[in-house]
Amino acid sequence: MSLFVQKYGGTSVGSVERIEAVADRVSRFHRDGHDLVIVLSAMSGETNRLIALAKQVQEQPNPRELDVLVSTGEQVTIALLSMALIKRGIEARSYTGGQVRVVTDSAFNKARIQHIDVEHMQADLAARRVVVVAGFQGVDQAGNITTLGRGGSDTTGVALAAALKADECQIYTDVDGVYTTDPRMVPKARRLEKVTFEEMLEMASLGSKVLQIRSVEFAGKYKVPLRVLSSFQEGPGTLITLDEEQESMEQPLVSGIAYSRDEAKITLVGVPDMPGVASKVLGPIGEANIEVDVIVQNVAANNSNDLTFTVGRNDLGRAKAVVQRVLAEVGAEEVLTADNIAKVSLVGVGMRSHAGVAARMFAVLAKENINIQMITTSEIKISVIIDERYLELAVRALHTEFDLDKKDSDSIE
Ligand code: ADP
Ligand code: ASP
Ligand code: MG
Repeated sequence: MSLFVQKYGGTSVGSVERIEAVADRVSRFHRDGHDLVIVLSAMSGETNRLIALAKQVQEQPNPRELDVLVSTGEQVTIALLSMALIKRGIEARSYTGGQVRVVTDSAFNKARIQHIDVEHMQADLAARRVVVVAGFQGVDQAGNITTLGRGGSDTTGVALAAALKADECQIYTDVDGVYTTDPRMVPKARRLEKVTFEEMLEMASLGSKVLQIRSVEFAGKYKVPLRVLSSFQEGPGTLITLDEEQESMEQPLVSGIAYSRDEAKITLVGVPDMPGVASKVLGPIGEANIEVDVIVQNVAANNSNDLTFTVGRNDLGRAKAVVQRVLAEVGAEEVLTADNIAKVSLVGVGMRSHAGVAARMFAVLAKENINIQMITTSEIKISVIIDERYLELAVRALHTEFDLDKKDSDSIE
């Protein structure tokens, strides 16, 4: 018999009916003799609702108090699921992150898991109880409630699976696996049977929210077998694999396309062409805890440059304020900002051994008359920044160009 950690996301526990459906699925696994630790998200929309409440009271909510507030969402669903299981004659016990003791650092709103106590869970499992744990939350050394960042229940699931040495961590969500791109944007997207950790890591960090990036990092580091499946239908889902063999076999050039609307750019116009400028600008941005993504500096004829970089859209206001403070010091003429941009990325380990992917990508965008504002590449990905208006068009055109569209023979449903 196996030990499974199953994580159910917001839509999968979005109503009492959905929670009953999860309870049915969990009971089936339990009756088949498996040991189960269940990790739950809050009901869909609940975390957003709580954050909006906080903002009504305090424009920039106090980070510690925000965690006390948003962690309540998960406490509701774990209790309801446990009741639904008990009703079915299965012994179940729910625990908050603090009760399990998911110990994190003290970075409120984006805490990192440091350690998980497994003794209590193991005792429950030995007594054939189903353990139901609140995702997304932990507790720091001082006993403060912390949360792990949006989408953090995925990371709770994988971290518990690693700590308990589970046979598999199963992420149940509202789509039946990892697709070539977001199936809600591209109906022709195809489910992937397998995807490598490396690719999944890129997809997650480039905007595919199906798995939180930290959960993929964790799974890679501790070699946790990880699968994404649907809580609405049966099916094999997508296995995230460490399989090196897969890489040596024939690879598609591009495995998936990720996109992100969470982008904004800042341009310093007329920056003198001399050493130290980039560090004078980007140093204070880093100190303000603002993450910079793509950076481009133009070569100019008249000894002055334009320096452009992108930040998360939520950070634009703060980043602009920082840049305005150093504007005079670096001798730049003005600062321009734009938040109507988006990032589109091709991801695939197959790119490593093939040249010409970028050229093909740029040709497709040119044909669609989409202007590329910035470009950045690594071994297994190419990202471009474009006008947000053309995002869907770009993703769809690239999806077709790189042979990712579902063939008619693929759709059995
Ligand atoms: P949950 O609430 O279960 O955690 P999320 O909304 O966080 O679910 O993640 C699932 C969603 O991720 C899907 O509904 C889908 O729209 C989106 N998504 C984005 N990119 C992909 C992809 N490549 N494959 C599958 N889903 C994707
Ligand atoms: N409820 C949290 C969120 O909405 C965590 C999660 O669902 O993974 O971000
Ligand atoms: Mg999620």
